[in-house]
Amino acid sequence: MNAPEKHRLRGSAVVVLLRGHGLELETWWVRRSDVVSIMPGFDAFPGGTIESSDAELPIEGVADEGERVLRACAIREAFEETGVLIGLAAPTNCAPGRLLEARSRLLAGVVAFPQLAWECGWSFRADALTFAGRWQTPPFVPMRFDASYFLARVPEGQEPSVHGAELASGEWIRPLDALDRYHAGSAAFAAPILHTLLALADGEQDLPARLAEGPELAAYPVRRMEFKWGIVLHPMKTRPLPPATHTNAYLIGERELALVDPGSGDPDELESLCTLLEVLRVEGRRLKLILLTHHHPDHAGGVEAVQQRWRVPVAAHPGTARHLHVDQVLADGERVSLAPGLGDWDLRVLHTPGHAQGHLSFLHERTRSLFCGDLIPGGRGTVILDPPDGELVPYLASLERLLTEPVETLFPAHGSPQGAAPQRIRWLIQHRLKRERLVLDALGAELQELSALVERVYADTPSELWAYAERTLLAHLLKLEAQGRVAREDERWRLAGV
Ligand SMILES: [Zn+2]
Repeated sequence: MNAPEKHRLRGSAVVVLLRGHGLELETWWVRRSDVVSIMPGFDAFPGGTIESSDAELPIEGVADEGERVLRACAIREAFEETGVLIGLAAPTNCAPGRLLEARSRLLAGVVAFPQLAWECGWSFRADALTFAGRWQTPPFVPMRFDASYFLARVPEGQEPSVHGAELASGEWIRPLDALDRYHAGSAAFAAPILHTLLALADGEQDLPARLAEGPELAAYPVRRMEFKWGIVLHPMKTRPLPPATHTNAYLIGERELALVDPGSGDPDELESLCTLLEVLRVEGRRLKLILLTHHHPDHAGGVEAVQQRWRVPVAAHPGTARHLHVDQVLADGERVSLAPGLGDWDLRVLHTPGHAQGHLSFLHERTRSLFCGDLIPGGRGTVILDPPDGELVPYLASLERLLTEPVETLFPAHGSPQGAAPQRIRWLIQHRLKRERLVLDALGAELQELSALVERVYADTPSELWAYAERTLLAHLLKLEAQGRVAREDERWRLAGV
């Protein structure tokens, strides 16, 4: 569980580096490393958030202070992340050796970028960077960015290279090749990247104007978030356990669609789902069925309304069918086929109990994508296990089992999707075992109330979340009790055998 973060927008700049023209036009994109907290393993463009020193970089030809700072951020981020110096007013003092040395000093924190620019005699002009759209992270994730995109040609004689822990790799790629990988399911990225690649694939004519038509400026009817071709995320405002505020519904397929976890029956939320389904229908995709990962209201709250409107069946595990009406029960290993014969859109059903006894995950093997419901939350958080339906032993077994499956990308019910799935799964297992250690350390020969234990076991968690943490603590205690390691009297707990 993470502390609730303020959903404020962080100003940031993204740089779309370019070289070549026509069919030879290429952009330089990066693969985010497995250790970053936001979208590890996803493809992106270089960029980052504004730093205070960005305000001190002089740039000619821009009167607006905000625009100047954004450009300064773009120039600095490009230099830090790729070693390419863009935005120069004149091509001076840019010998590769000198740039390398300057970058090392910047990355080592020895000098701030404006100071470095002054020492090296670099001067910058606003029109060396072309504005290419503005994108705001939708409010379904806690960490949000207000990102301005800029196009920049890589100056003659310079070659980008990634550095540091945040980026795993970088490469020049033609936009159509990048889109091919996306269609094949081997590349995953956020909506602005797709928009940018599609615009680049149409050539350089009117490129800045076409790029600037991002949703913030063009007021699209609905934000389309298709992280891999055929996998559309649609966040719905729900009342999940904190810190989440939304539940991600997913629309999977390229002809027939499965809708996973429509969590809200609210008319406004349904209206926006309806708009999205209409957009997809025009493209030849139609809703075939609803799949539920489990019965919790923030996942199933919209089922009845969606069924009334689109008359599609709902399928879920028998454990879910004990709580609400289900048309078709699904067992572990079954396959849900979407438009058989058209590509491979089979989903394999995995029974993954722990958060709820009837919890299912859905695996799309071709793209190694797992729709994991509340088994694994997005970001770096953990899930709440609420006994008796939530249980630790099956939860850990479900995670262990996933390590034996071909899973690369996680599409969770809360927070943003992420790559590097095995690393995330191993972290969650380790986290639970560490927490168990803390539980044992907090217990002694004396009986203790749950409310006293939670303060010690969850000292690292904000106190406003302790009421929820108590439920997971109880799941830990019940596991240890079943193993004979702790004892209980009148709902108070102590170590066994002391
Ligand atoms: Zn749940």
